[in-house]
Amino acid sequence: MQIDFNLSPSPSPSPSPSPSPSSLSRLHSRDESRAFSKFLSSLSDVELLIETKAAIKTEREATAVVVRYFKEINDRELYLRYACSSLFQFATEKLGYCAGSAQLRINAMRLVEALPEIEAKIESGELSLSAAAKVQSFILLEKKQNKIYSTEEKRELVYSCLKKSTREVERELAKRNPDIQKIETLKPVGRDRFQISFSISEETEVKMAKLKNLFAHTNPHTTTEELFEKLIELGLEKFDPERKAARVLKRREQQRMSAQPSGADEPYQEKSDQPHQEQSVQAEGTSQSSTPNSFHSHEVECPSSQSAKPTRARHIPADSRHKVWARNQGRGCEFVSDSGARCGSRSSLQLDHVHGFAIGGTHQATNLRILCAKHNRFVWRVAR
Ligand SMILES: [Zn+2]
Repeated sequence: MQIDFNLSPSPSPSPSPSPSPSSLSRLHSRDESRAFSKFLSSLSDVELLIETKAAIKTEREATAVVVRYFKEINDRELYLRYACSSLFQFATEKLGYCAGSAQLRINAMRLVEALPEIEAKIESGELSLSAAAKVQSFILLEKKQNKIYSTEEKRELVYSCLKKSTREVERELAKRNPDIQKIETLKPVGRDRFQISFSISEETEVKMAKLKNLFAHTNPHTTTEELFEKLIELGLEKFDPERKAARVLKRREQQRMSAQPSGADEPYQEKSDQPHQEQSVQAEGTSQSSTPNSFHSHEVECPSSQSAKPTRARHIPADSRHKVWARNQGRGCEFVSDSGARCGSRSSLQLDHVHGFAIGGTHQATNLRILCAKHNRFVWRVAR
């Protein structure tokens, strides 16, 4: 059965306690909702609390079931089929969860994967969903600081957080690693503003001050935000294949426009079109380390194509690459699901041959597309 998520997204889950099963039927229409309001107001204080507790129990059990569904979807990588590059994207775009709710459930799912027995703790309410998510985030952050938790250590950590409020869990985790409070965060603080928080080493602070001084010629009061913006611009200018393609195509157009009649018949020289910095970024298979992972512009070779050992050059000509990136116009992964949804992920983008190179596909731009790494692997797997 094909489920068209674009046509019928699931409603966003309510953060408020769900009504108990006995009350659910009263909410299906406006009349029923009115009747339910009447029912609520008829309850005594004690009855209201009993009904509320029953609803919370139902909510917890439903959440534990959702976590199990998430795990199954994740195991099957089902989100790839629906043009999503991650379970998080699938949960927010196709299942209707807000980012925070989706992340809570995914974090809890990861923790249940490591410790299956805590599913019952979440269901019983001994471990709240947010506590489970915080513990999982903590374990990941510790891993980034090279502290790997064994299964037994994870279990001990979880048990230290049972029956505790979110605030108490935060205190417990901070007690174990006070530095965890300094971990990078990004949160919206207005309609179009975000606040980034992270700590830097003393050495980096010295380098930052030096860079600010270098910019002092043009702006003696460069703020950290302005410095950050300049560095991001510099990084994108150097590594963004879309910008690179736009530069090359624009330069080529200018050369054609300014060509003298005597040189009009001379063939176009690709080498003259590529400054040194672009060659260093685009040299496939030789300079990947100079290009951030998010912007790989090389084709990923699947096992079958490697074993085919084609005699033709695997190197995709710069001309084709530039055309494909320019055509993409920053829209990201071009994978389209059966229902017509497009992935659009901008992470780990790669060039992919529509008709495989190993089976005769050409390097022409018409036979190339941009896919995220996960969809590149997915289309290869499906095509087998
Ligand atoms: Zn994708």
